[in-house]
Amino acid sequence: MSGGGSFSESARHAGAAARRWMTTAGDALASVFFPAGCRICERLLVGASRVPVCEECLGSFEARPQRKCEICGQELPSFEAAAPEGLICPACQMQTYAFARARSFGVYEGALVRAILLLKFEEVTPLGEWFAEKLAGMVRREGELLAADVVVPVPLHRERERERGYNQATVLAKPLAKRLRLPFKAVLLLRTRPRPDKQVLSLEERWASVRGAFATRPGSQVDKLRVLLVDDVMTTGATLDACARALLKSGAKSVVGLTVARAVRSPIPKVVHANSQAAR
Ligand SMILES: [Zn+2]
Ligand SMILES: [Zn+2]
Repeated sequence: MSGGGSFSESARHAGAAARRWMTTAGDALASVFFPAGCRICERLLVGASRVPVCEECLGSFEARPQRKCEICGQELPSFEAAAPEGLICPACQMQTYAFARARSFGVYEGALVRAILLLKFEEVTPLGEWFAEKLAGMVRREGELLAADVVVPVPLHRERERERGYNQATVLAKPLAKRLRLPFKAVLLLRTRPRPDKQVLSLEERWASVRGAFATRPGSQVDKLRVLLVDDVMTTGATLDACARALLKSGAKSVVGLTVARAVRSPIPKVVHANSQAAR
């Protein structure tokens, strides 16, 4: 039972309810115009971009200019001297990879790791389009070196894609193909063997788990094509290498790997290298 203060009390309640409503309505409005803070650093997003990442984070993604291997794009220690044929890392000097070249937009560290997770687990399509624009710029700048006839995403195993609902490489590769005005071939390449369930794979396990795990779809036209193969991250190069082998086996002319990010260092285990040479 309320006493003499009932009026002011109920007014106070009404005021609180109104404020709650206002806050909720305000949030609803804000969520229309500003979907949320930056999905990486939570800074308030201003401007009309559909990309849910702030300018500061976006600006931090691109790799700083560095001496890089001309073939696989691996950063090279500054003391490594250029060979007469150019700057080529030890792995490429040993012809480790089946792809002709690989390039990445940034280094897999800091905010870029979180951006990749957004692509991988939340299918943030506008962010995929943003990266596609950057990758397209890289392809155009290198001209003939990265020239291609088709764009192909690194495939997930069918069951994995069903679980996840989409392939994160497609979120990048499809808008990239559009920007480069090239055909997008989502099903040209298949993953025939899934990744092992184990969470963390050693270097050797990584290479072993992808060797022979990809094939071109029977009846697909691959002959003499220069393929631009797209993925989110290049860690050891093993996946791009295994895909490139399957494409070349089916008659592709060449394969160029393109990823958003690249691991800082991708060492090549000696035993794998010996095997991959034997497989050539
Ligand atoms: Zn941010
Ligand atoms: Zn290299």
